[in-house]
Amino acid sequence: MNILVLNCGSSSLKYQLLNMETEELLVKGLCERIGIDGYLKHTSDKDYESNVAMPDHEAAVKIVMDALIDPERGVLKSMSDVHAVGHRVVHGGEKFSDSVVVTDEVERAIDECSELAPLHNPPNLIGIRACKKIMPGVPNVAVFDTAFHAKMPEKAFLYAIPYELYEKHKIRKYGFHGTSHKYVSAVAAELIGKPYNSLKIVTCHLGNGASVCAIENGVSVDTSMGLTPLEGLAMGTRSGDLDPAVVPFIMQKEELTAGEALDILNKKSGVLGVSGVSSDFRDLSAAEKSGNARAKAAMDMFCYRVARYVGSYAVAMNGLDAIVFTAGIGENDIAIRERICAYLGFLGVHIDNDKNNSRGKAVEISTSDSKVKALVVPTNEELVIARDTKAAI
Ligand code: AMP
Repeated sequence: MNILVLNCGSSSLKYQLLNMETEELLVKGLCERIGIDGYLKHTSDKDYESNVAMPDHEAAVKIVMDALIDPERGVLKSMSDVHAVGHRVVHGGEKFSDSVVVTDEVERAIDECSELAPLHNPPNLIGIRACKKIMPGVPNVAVFDTAFHAKMPEKAFLYAIPYELYEKHKIRKYGFHGTSHKYVSAVAAELIGKPYNSLKIVTCHLGNGASVCAIENGVSVDTSMGLTPLEGLAMGTRSGDLDPAVVPFIMQKEELTAGEALDILNKKSGVLGVSGVSSDFRDLSAAEKSGNARAKAAMDMFCYRVARYVGSYAVAMNGLDAIVFTAGIGENDIAIRERICAYLGFLGVHIDNDKNNSRGKAVEISTSDSKVKALVVPTNEELVIARDTKAAI
């Protein structure tokens, strides 16, 4: 069974094709500049790149399919060799606590969630509709970033605002990166060699977007992102937590609309905003080494917040068995892992510097006598989407 995994953004489309008998990745690729001009990067044993017109997502899906069945460079004989498509859908609201086969009703519900994720759900839906048109009869499955957090208790997901606002508008914490938190925590349990549903784990998904999740007995009981992915950690360009009164204050002082103020918090804040250097930790690290004080402040702030969240989640779960690092920074930045764990000694987290000297591999990085295990687990959201898709159909 071959499953195509699609992740549609506003002007991009990432894809992977997996053989789900073996879970082998057959090809992956990326369409960019959809609606502008169009660019395809197709990665297999016969890599190629091409500038090709992509006026819309439907055209991009067609180009991906053509690449998959290309007689010379493709991996499939015909379109009928794609047995299902798994779509990453960012927001499932309160409606979806699991992955589902897309029906007209599911499509309507995803559309209704668009007001909670206006940048993400509409392109996700466009991808689903494009597949329905180009591959009629092939089932589409929606896999939600929010679903893993659907069992969070009320005390964790409610905001302390009038309850009617929650009831009327569903304003609450939802959480994101669910497929990643679910995957890396399950792999961590395997590496530790204990049953998943017996462990208290904090997963740190530290990429350009970043979130922390408390997972108790296999269930997400709290997470740092909220109604939208803006809450929580300081990220590449997102502010994370701040006093909500900052928003009208910025609007008044800088004469901005709410949308413009939000744009600053989403795109010009985080470690980029504080450092003035970059949102990329490789650039920040180089700047810090050359004596840039604001780059140091940004990185200190980033690590401090991650550690604070880990500490609060150890309290939320009344204990901690393991902490897991994943995503671009978590998998690759040795120094950042060390800096975060330096705060957590009192909880029983002790890093072995030799073991921590590793990038992009699943490894335990804590000392053999560390009370709390620390691990690096490369995330694989596409594999979770493909597994969920296989299960759903
Ligand atoms: P992601 O969103 O998971 O793709 O992560 C992207 C971020 O990971 C980049 O913006 C970098 O900050 C960080 N990153 C990627 N590779 C490295 C590396 N080798 N060292 C440090 N940070 C890295």
